[in-house]
Amino acid sequence: MVHPHSIALRGALRSLRARPTLPQQRFFGVSARYQAEKPQASFKSQLYESTQARLKRERAEQERFAQYQTQSPGGRYAALLFALVFFSTGSYYLGSLKPAALPTSSTSPLVDLEPAQHNVSPSNLQAAWSDFVEILGKENVSTTPGDLDSHAGSDWSSYSLKENEKPFLILYPSTTEEVSKIMKVCHTRIIPVTPYSGGTSLEGHFAPTRGGVCIDFRRMDRILQLNKSDLDVVVQPALGWEELNEELTKDGLFFPPTQVPVL
Ligand SMILES: Cc1cc2nc3c(=O)[nH]c(=O)nc-3n(C[C@H](O)[C@H](O)[C@H](O)COP(=O)(O)OP(=O)(O)OC[C@H]3O[C@@H](n4cnc5c(N)ncnc54)[C@H](O)[C@@H]3O)c2cc1C
Repeated sequence: MVHPHSIALRGALRSLRARPTLPQQRFFGVSARYQAEKPQASFKSQLYESTQARLKRERAEQERFAQYQTQSPGGRYAALLFALVFFSTGSYYLGSLKPAALPTSSTSPLVDLEPAQHNVSPSNLQAAWSDFVEILGKENVSTTPGDLDSHAGSDWSSYSLKENEKPFLILYPSTTEEVSKIMKVCHTRIIPVTPYSGGTSLEGHFAPTRGGVCIDFRRMDRILQLNKSDLDVVVQPALGWEELNEELTKDGLFFPPTQVPVL
């Protein structure tokens, strides 16, 4: 038999348990929020991942060690030799890419030089003719026999003319750019070039002993810049010294040739 007072007391106790006090509620609320912000599961997964990574690393190291153990000493030497040969060949190749040191003397004996290689075959020169016509126009590319003869030598020259030492054609450029384009063609086709300005050389300097082409500069005869205070002048290659002096006289200047004729 239960006392009616004890029933009332239990009822009161149950209701107390069912309705927690305010401070308890607040404490419970804070704890739940903390758990939501920092879930325990993420820490666990981190721990799991780092353990997995460590195990994987250890396993790989063990495998490497086991592999090394199973290699025969002969195999190891062969691998070492291969690495040595590979690196020496590679180093030699890289070293050969560097250009050789320049000669220290001011002159090079002819025997030290490689003979010049040219291509003066008719087919190569004929093909070059079209390239030159494209650069200068037909009127500035001459193949007339008289032109070829007059550019092979002169009455002044002490060098005796040879029938097989004539240019294949004569070019008449008017600008530095044109000369540059001509030289590019000659470089690509390995064609020898002889420049010609007044043709007054006495020692046969402009004789085209290797054939090829001749560049006559007669259309490039201008004074480019006169530096009076420095007493120098920049000219194009075909300017004659007499024409130069005509201009210099206007400024009270004079260009003396090395040998002034004695009258
Ligand atoms: C009667 C007479 C008198 C002379 N008097 C003198 C004198 O008083 N003083 C003197 O110094 N010389 C004198 N000379 C020599 C002659 O004038 C020189 O050799 C002169 O420098 C030649 O110049 P050029 O423009 O006629 O060249 P060229 O005779 O046409 O060529 C001479 C050389 O230079 C090369 N050449 C020409 N143009 C160029 C260029 N643009 N780029 C690179 N190379 C080129 C040629 O291929 C050749 O090898 C005299 C010659 C004669 C015939």
